[in-house]
Amino acid sequence: MNKILVTGALGQIGSELVVKLREIYGADHVIATDLRSSAHEITRSGPFELLDVTNDKAMFEIAKRYEVDTVIHLAALLSATAEEKPLLAWNLNMGGLMNALEISRELGCQFFTPSSIGSFGPLTPKDNTPQDTIQRPNTMYGVNKVSGELLCDYYFHKYGLDTRGLRFPGLISYMTPPGGGTTDYAVEIYYAAVTAGRYTSYIAKDSNMDMMYMPDALNAIIDLMEADSSRLMHRNSFNVTAMSVDPEAIAAAIRDELPGFILDYDVDPKRQAIADSWPHSIDATAAKIEWGFHARYDLKAMTKDMLSQLSERQM
Ligand code: NAD
Repeated sequence: MNKILVTGALGQIGSELVVKLREIYGADHVIATDLRSSAHEITRSGPFELLDVTNDKAMFEIAKRYEVDTVIHLAALLSATAEEKPLLAWNLNMGGLMNALEISRELGCQFFTPSSIGSFGPLTPKDNTPQDTIQRPNTMYGVNKVSGELLCDYYFHKYGLDTRGLRFPGLISYMTPPGGGTTDYAVEIYYAAVTAGRYTSYIAKDSNMDMMYMPDALNAIIDLMEADSSRLMHRNSFNVTAMSVDPEAIAAAIRDELPGFILDYDVDPKRQAIADSWPHSIDATAAKIEWGFHARYDLKAMTKDMLSQLSERQM
């Protein structure tokens, strides 16, 4: 990676990834783009361009002007929102991806896009979900993510495009709020713990899902992109995870730091149905073997850091 174009850069992942990439590769080497603008520091700390990823000509023009050699494609509609707006999700998630892949092919770029635990479905083995297994999701987001994985592998096999991807679990972070995913509760619970001392979960007790702290997700993207290509047996996409938790487990970890925290439930059937179709815990062995994936934060370490960062930001 030398000159990197990031789409959807103002989102939960991009807003932190761009900062880290600029630290490593130099501010001028990371071109942040998004559909919207904001006062976020990444719009000032290096190149920033307004870009709708469904506009292939605009994406090509920016990629060519900055002579990028890497595309990190993050712009997407997330699981819960995609279920509300399936047609928009298809057009954005597939149209944007196809544009980003085509531009990478034309300009010979290395390519990264995230998949998700949402790419699995009700027929997938739920515990220790293997790297290679049944993927028959029943959500629009899941359909987009499986199709995206296949499309990225197709570009690798057909054109030799260096495509790489990660199946992210729910990502937990304190910088930028999540953008409409099923696992957003696992971020909201920390904000609520600090501000109100209690949280009402829309996800039911005993619904275990994989999660990972944002610093581990950012390292995983960079480590995978920097990995020796010849070591990669898989490409799109690698299972990665740091923990499998339900709301009670997070609440118990919060109580270790903030005794008296109260958790109750008002389950949202729509988001619960999505959660029920996802694995309980996925197996990240292939990522560990092929490019040395490891997560530094477990639930306890993540909870300590989340609460201290959010408390500091409150002051
Ligand atoms: P987000 O919703 O926080 O951010 C998405 C960004 O894309 C937003 O800034 C939005 O303005 C932008 N965007 C929307 N439409 C656009 C368009 N037409 N053109 C350009 N930009 C547009 O999402 P995120 O959490 O940062 O996720 C990024 C990627 O990671 C997505 O592919 C998502 O599916 C994947 N992922 C995220 C998680 C997670 O927990 N955050 C988990 C698994 C996979």
